[in-house]
Amino acid sequence: MTKNEHLSIEYPETLDQADVLGYKRAEFSIPDGLIYLDGNSLGVLPTAVKQRLADTVEIEWGESLIRAWNTHRWMELPNLVGDKIGALIGAEQGAVAATDSTSLNVAKAVSAGLSLNPARKVILTDNGNFPTDVYMAQGVVDALDKGHEVRIVNPQDIYDALDESVAVMMITQVDYRTGRRHDMQKLTDRAHEVGAIAMWDLAHSAGAFAVDLTACNVDLAVGCTYKYLNGGPGSPAFIYIAPRHQQHIKPMLSGWIGHKAPFDFDLEYQPADGVRRMNVGTPSVLALSALDTALDVWSDVDMSEVRNKSVELCELFISEVESRCSQYGLKLASPRDAESRGSQVSFHCPEGYAVMRALIANNVIGDFRAPDVIRFGFTPLYVSFTDVYRGAEILERVLEQKLWNTPEFMKKEQVT
Ligand SMILES: *Cc1c(COP(=O)(O)O)cnc(C)c1O
Repeated sequence: MTKNEHLSIEYPETLDQADVLGYKRAEFSIPDGLIYLDGNSLGVLPTAVKQRLADTVEIEWGESLIRAWNTHRWMELPNLVGDKIGALIGAEQGAVAATDSTSLNVAKAVSAGLSLNPARKVILTDNGNFPTDVYMAQGVVDALDKGHEVRIVNPQDIYDALDESVAVMMITQVDYRTGRRHDMQKLTDRAHEVGAIAMWDLAHSAGAFAVDLTACNVDLAVGCTYKYLNGGPGSPAFIYIAPRHQQHIKPMLSGWIGHKAPFDFDLEYQPADGVRRMNVGTPSVLALSALDTALDVWSDVDMSEVRNKSVELCELFISEVESRCSQYGLKLASPRDAESRGSQVSFHCPEGYAVMRALIANNVIGDFRAPDVIRFGFTPLYVSFTDVYRGAEILERVLEQKLWNTPEFMKKEQVT
């Protein structure tokens, strides 16, 4: 883009006027003046959630009390909410449960995958995976104590590392640091060719772009709902089991809510039908209620429009930051080709931690990932082109005026 005074003022507003998703921003509560480029880490508050939570607390909990398990369908929430998520990731109805954390669901899915492929011992993953996924897989290996191993290769080597020793390919589609995106169809097909189970973590995929688990013939999937799905801090995660496998899985975490008839209180565990068996304990009703309403913002949204806008937002940000900030040592850490990227853009940045703190102090929120990455998420339902443009402008100012160079911004906080 030319750095023309006139253009630089008019351009983002023109893009915003032409934005077919522009109207969605009004459905979110975003503090005035805040440029929020961290919806890949914690999505903003969908306004309708306030009333839903108030009603759930005051009417359902406050007045209906224990009757609400039936009258307000509390017990059904993991499935009702699971189906709303399923619609966004190409899952069949009844194949997704909203429950537990992503970490726990990784353990549940990996152990399920191993049980579907009992003759093999290898869980294959890559070093771009989020650490908790790897930790949980290792924990499952240790707990099973049957000689399994977690094999970790470079992301670009996954395809070639798929061989007949692999029981489960456990891949996170989008790299949390760089936004690098794996080809789901290609890797799933290859996994199946060698007889491996394909398990995908959609933490940075669900709500970021269209995912089609059914078309890709994925076996197992998990994902997060507080990122692009705006479910709120610590909102329940999800787990997907392809219908063809559901009746063959004996859950490792066999809790009473995953039992066929919890209220028979039989001492012998018998799994419920379908994905219901992946539930473990009592549903988190408040969190599921918030998530249930948060998911309603997607009901009139076309994921291909989300993806188109996401690419445009990311491209605008890359071109603005590169033209303004390269002289300060910033280097693109994300793939340049949009096809290979999720919905985030990252830069290597000297003093990245302090730079991000200074940026946040100037009302532009992104985040920092060690050792030197500043990361920006682009959530097309509520981020505007003007946000992106102003965000780049403010980043330039922070670097040019060295606003990051203070002892306060250098000091690490607990959460980065
Ligand atoms: C965000 C994220 C998680 C988070 O797991 P929690 O159990 O919710 O803390 C797990 N895996 C991946 C790939 C993630 O991006």
